[in-house]
Amino acid sequence: MAQRFARSFRFRFLAALGGVLLLALISLLALSKWVIFPALHEEERASVDQELDRVERSLQLSQQQLLAQARDWGNWDDTYEFVQGDYPGYTDTNFSQQMFEEMRYQLMAFFNTNGDVYFLAGINPVTNQYQTCQTSERECRWTTPLIHAMQASIAEDPQQGKSVLYSGTPPLMVASTPILRTDQSGTPQGWLFKVRPIGEQWLTLMEEFTGLPITLSMVNGDANHTDVTTIIGNTIQAQRYLPSYPINEQIALGTQLERTHYLTSLATFRYVLIWTACLMLLVIGLVLLLLQKIVLKPLRNLTQFTQHVSGNADLSNNMLTRSDEIGMLARAFQLQFKRQQQLNAELIELSTHDPLTGLPNRRLFDQQLNKEVDQTSIHHHPLSVMMIDIDHFKLFNDHYGHPEGDVCLQWVAQAMSDVAKDQGFFIARTGGEEFSAILSNTDLDQAILKSQVLGDAIKGLAIPHQVSPVTHSVSVSIGISQLGIEGVITPSGLMTAADQALYAAKAAGRDCARAYTPELANTTISSYSTPP
Ligand code: GH3
Ligand code: MG
Ligand code: MG
Repeated sequence: MAQRFARSFRFRFLAALGGVLLLALISLLALSKWVIFPALHEEERASVDQELDRVERSLQLSQQQLLAQARDWGNWDDTYEFVQGDYPGYTDTNFSQQMFEEMRYQLMAFFNTNGDVYFLAGINPVTNQYQTCQTSERECRWTTPLIHAMQASIAEDPQQGKSVLYSGTPPLMVASTPILRTDQSGTPQGWLFKVRPIGEQWLTLMEEFTGLPITLSMVNGDANHTDVTTIIGNTIQAQRYLPSYPINEQIALGTQLERTHYLTSLATFRYVLIWTACLMLLVIGLVLLLLQKIVLKPLRNLTQFTQHVSGNADLSNNMLTRSDEIGMLARAFQLQFKRQQQLNAELIELSTHDPLTGLPNRRLFDQQLNKEVDQTSIHHHPLSVMMIDIDHFKLFNDHYGHPEGDVCLQWVAQAMSDVAKDQGFFIARTGGEEFSAILSNTDLDQAILKSQVLGDAIKGLAIPHQVSPVTHSVSVSIGISQLGIEGVITPSGLMTAADQALYAAKAAGRDCARAYTPELANTTISSYSTPP
């Protein structure tokens, strides 16, 4: 049963379509793994880079603003005179704690042309107190590391006019400029450095400006860091490393982004994937359903139809009226089946009938006799046989010719067939000019009577037989035997007995019938014209 299902069209279609579905799903998954997801990640990375660029640009903008402010102060006649010692009221007029707080300055450092500190003003990050000093010692000691870094920078690049990041906690933004007249004439009279902390206040401002959360931290600057992104749940943290002074440290500028776009794309893609899979399943289901309706069911019906037709040949089936291929197959099958039936009938007719006379032949006679003998043994009714032989038929042939002999045989056969029908017995042509009859439910006496009717019928044909030593028309001799009489119990025994009786009839002068009895040799039982 299972093996038959495995070989069935339905299973094979199901397996093929299932395979196609599986392949399609695997392709979709492979596509998403190696093409779509990487593309989404790439897109997300690009957008992170963009956001980091934005944050970095805002820092650069802030640095440029500080540089512009430093230049504003450094290229000013008042400052120029101040560092030359010609403007004693400069500090009182221009510097105050309020100005430093408003401008978010940590420190303003003035250096003379030798690179020595000339004047310092700033807010102590520890005490938050505004201080002014002539050196970076005593109360302004907190500025010492910065001052050293600035002096190193001046030694390195006397041109200055730049804004750089200094490492520290918090990191610092430092802008420097040479001190010149307002119209930038004259020789530089030293340098001015402005320092702004990149602390909480700056971060809050930048967050408002960019709309992104921003972090700043110091990292060891030995490694040449590239951007780093870390994904935590639905957020992505990105960091960019910026060079700072001194050079063995770097500032990590970071931001945190929601993965909204990526997650939305992912959800959309998953939605599409699930729907595609469902759609494919639906299509395959539909294909199978249609297949079942259009092909498999009609095929099953066709099979039933062929079995039905082969079984009882009832051809009034609606399969024949279909206009599709199944209908064509059904009609072709029906035609073929009819032809085969016809051929079978012809074959049976040929194998069981004599072509010259149309009477049953020896084969059919033997079959029939066996059947009748079997029936007789069950029902115990009498059974008789006759062997009929045309008298001196060789002479007939010799005299009238073989074709005439054939015609004679046909006439005799027809006459005997008519009598057999009339008298209700079975007759066959069992030899050249020999015929045999089976008389069921007939005893020897009744058979003798019927043999007379038969002999008379042939004589009645009055076929001339000029050269017959018996009569001048065609006559027959008949031998008769009955089953169960004188030890005759088998079909062959019955026929042998009839043959002996026929021999006796011949011996007795022909044109007569004889029954098989022990006294057979001497007793003429009948002659057709004068029954006993
Ligand atoms: P008997 O009275 O002893 O039966 O003599 P007979 O001549 O009839 O018997 P025999 O057996 O000597 O000859 C039978 C003849 O029947 C010989 C044969 O030519 C002829 N015969 C057999 N079959 C056919 C046939 O199909 N057509 C024709 N025309 N003749 C046939
Ligand atoms: Mg013969
Ligand atoms: Mg004969």
